[in-house]
Amino acid sequence: MAKETSDYISTISDSLISWRRQLHQFPELGWTEYETTYLIGKELSKLGFTLFLGRDALVSEERMGVPSKEILRISETRALKNGVPKDWLSKMEGGHTGLVATLDTGKAGKHVALRFDIDALPIPENKGSSDDHFPTSQAFSSKSPYLMHACGHDGHAAIGLGVATYLSTFQEELSGTFTMLFQPAEEGSRGAKAMVEKGWLDEVDVFLSGHIGITPMQIGEVVASAHGFLATSKLDVSFNGKSAHAGVEPQEGRNALLAAAAASLHLHGIPRHSDGETRINVGTLQAGSGRNVIPDYAEMSLETRGETSILNQFMEDEAIRIIQQTAGIYGVECDIRLVGKGIEASSELGWKEILENATRSSKRVNKIIETFPLKASEDAAYMLNHVRDRGGKATYFIFGTPLAAGHHHPLFDYDEKVLEVALDVYISSILSLS
Ligand SMILES: [Zn+2]
Repeated sequence: MAKETSDYISTISDSLISWRRQLHQFPELGWTEYETTYLIGKELSKLGFTLFLGRDALVSEERMGVPSKEILRISETRALKNGVPKDWLSKMEGGHTGLVATLDTGKAGKHVALRFDIDALPIPENKGSSDDHFPTSQAFSSKSPYLMHACGHDGHAAIGLGVATYLSTFQEELSGTFTMLFQPAEEGSRGAKAMVEKGWLDEVDVFLSGHIGITPMQIGEVVASAHGFLATSKLDVSFNGKSAHAGVEPQEGRNALLAAAAASLHLHGIPRHSDGETRINVGTLQAGSGRNVIPDYAEMSLETRGETSILNQFMEDEAIRIIQQTAGIYGVECDIRLVGKGIEASSELGWKEILENATRSSKRVNKIIETFPLKASEDAAYMLNHVRDRGGKATYFIFGTPLAAGHHHPLFDYDEKVLEVALDVYISSILSLS
């Protein structure tokens, strides 16, 4: 990397931190990232990118786990109140958040695509005291009592804006075209496929994405190509029984609470698989309406995972069988909805050398690790596989940082120096591959 580029990264380091902190204060769940999309889009349009919003960015019908109309309406009203212009909102209406931005240098060259996820989680941030939570001491903790950027996607979006700023500033010296995907609804594996199906990655030579953190590492350590993306299925289940007076005629009831409770125990009893790792988790369970009423409904959300898509399918099929059979035992109806699905992906060899060469003179990157098992699901798997299936190169980096607490924890936080490192890795990779 030329000294000029390295110095340039230092000059936008303050912007990276300020974007990250702005985003951290206004977390939004998948398909309701109206303010987030606007913040990102506003910056990108200043930089001369061509923007694609709403149905222009993704295939509406391929979205999974879209919240109810009521939740979308409430979120849109909130976004309008908080300053998102009407013309932006009308394009995103009905949960069509996220955006794609393209930049054509006008010179023949590679087509490079980069993907950054932008959604937050339904976790109340532990504001703690100033001493034990950096976002509190620096006064940028979540303004929402229920939501938090507890996975680092605030940082990912900020890094994306950093890359965009670089591409825009240096476009005279660059060649080829750039497509930047700011993907909604990564949590729950719900958004990537809708963007892939729009065709953005059909003719891409190089695809880059990555994640901050995952496991505690030092600043400056970078995994060149992660592996161990777990395939996953997300299921929402309703059990519908019949309520009855618990004292007068309990025999007339059909107990949905017991069906759901029994099902959740049986679900965790699905045997391990000799072909590889699997997971199951019943994450939420709500049932019943009152102490003296036979509960007539229960709602459950669960997920399965597998080291391969085949193993995950085994888990999903078994889960469905168990839920249906358990509902049968209690004489209640069940309705099972698939609200998210992620597929397996593996690492690609050769990225360690590419990255070592690309970052040789970098002051920020000091150790490249060939690969590391993600042991989680990552919606980018759809994108990685799509690009590779068509002969492109694709990788998923992990950017090392100490972590204040694990991902999806109310005290999650990372060292903001990682933002500069990640920006350096993306820019260095672009310069060496395009
Ligand atoms: Zn994440």
